[in-house]
Amino acid sequence: MERVKSYSEKDRKYHLHPTTPLKANFEQGPTVFMERGEGIYLYDFEGKKYIDGLASLWNVNIGHGRKEIAEVAKEQIEKLAYSHSFNRFSHDKVVQLAEKVASIAPGDLNVCQFTSGGSESNESAFKLVRHYFQLKGMPAKNKILSRYRGYHGVSLGATGATGIPAFRQMAGPPMVEGFIHAKAPYCYRCESCQPECNGECAIDSILNVIREEGPETIAAIIVEPIQGAGGVIVPPQGYMKKVREICNQYGLLMIADEVITGFGRTGKWFGMQREDVVPDIMTVAKGITSGYIPLGGVVISEKLHREMVDLSDQSKVFAHGFTYSGHPTACAVAMKNIEIMEEEKLPENAYNLEGFFREGLEAIKESSPIVGNVMSRGLIASLEFVQDKDSKKAFDPSAQVAQRVFESALKRGLITRAIAIDHTDIIAMCPPLNITKEQISDLLQILEDSVQEV
Ligand code: PLP
Repeated sequence: MERVKSYSEKDRKYHLHPTTPLKANFEQGPTVFMERGEGIYLYDFEGKKYIDGLASLWNVNIGHGRKEIAEVAKEQIEKLAYSHSFNRFSHDKVVQLAEKVASIAPGDLNVCQFTSGGSESNESAFKLVRHYFQLKGMPAKNKILSRYRGYHGVSLGATGATGIPAFRQMAGPPMVEGFIHAKAPYCYRCESCQPECNGECAIDSILNVIREEGPETIAAIIVEPIQGAGGVIVPPQGYMKKVREICNQYGLLMIADEVITGFGRTGKWFGMQREDVVPDIMTVAKGITSGYIPLGGVVISEKLHREMVDLSDQSKVFAHGFTYSGHPTACAVAMKNIEIMEEEKLPENAYNLEGFFREGLEAIKESSPIVGNVMSRGLIASLEFVQDKDSKKAFDPSAQVAQRVFESALKRGLITRAIAIDHTDIIAMCPPLNITKEQISDLLQILEDSVQEV
């Protein structure tokens, strides 16, 4: 208790928390201090055990406490902790990881540039598509089309693409021009399609934006295979194929933001493989190292790479890259992480448990008067709370229903994520991929009790 008190005081004074209500933390300090992790569990300073029901920040796919990863990191730090990849320098670990990612990525997505996280990966993708169209002599084709409720990170470009109001408005008016938005395929809340939405209106919305802006001004569309931070919005069947067709028809590049959905989350290596769609560019982070060390990447098609090479002369520099693009230790950790996923068949585990997880969530919906909707695929899921199931009337935001469910679950030893956007109240789950059926049952039981309490 003394330790919590002492750290709490220092945290309030010295630590500016990311994405946190500042006043609450300043006045009351953090709600929890984590000490260690093992498998799907986290333990706080006082030894209390939690199911890490969100894989921390949708990223700890292989679970906590893997000694093999620590050994690989130690070995690599001792041998070559850091070396860069600028100006035709290279090293074995960056090449091995790029080849490995190419081997599991769909289609001809075979060429990688690494970053340190998701925002950097999306930023890289945006600059890369603009560079591509400049090389082609089409510099006016530079806008990025994304969707409302999409989350693509917090750097300037990534914030521009993000379609969640709180993130877009945080620093005032948009700081980067050229980001345009269309409707998300959020069928449960669709008011325009009758009697039932199949995503057609979201496709029409994309088409309308393209026509209004002019396809000659748009470089790319960025889509998350599942909109995670937006509430776990799973698109209806066929939606992504239509987006792909639109890109082909209007000469736009398709960027899949696989920062959450990549590396096994949806039951395949990448979320787009559940849609049978191959984008031109894929951005990754989080699960590539399961959060053991920061790493992200942008993966482009061989076709795009060859075109850029052919359009460049010997002196033309691709003037983009980070000090830590291809960090040897991060790459070695990512290789080991992917090896563990392969050996333990973690994408398959997510695929096999999808039905069981879904059934449990549907049962909670049936038994609770306030659960209006379940969204899920693989091992990512959410429940949406409503005042009235028939009318889908939302709760008043001041009731903070999702936040209260989150708090109730935390008290009971389950970590989830409360999402409140535009009068919707959602609780999200995204457990480590090595979770078992029995552990999912435990998670569901705590969730049900927490919903009932609220
Ligand atoms: N893209 C998606 C889909 C994400 O969910 C996130 C983070 O949650 C990001 C991008 C940004 O990643 P990072 O926080 O590593 O910059």
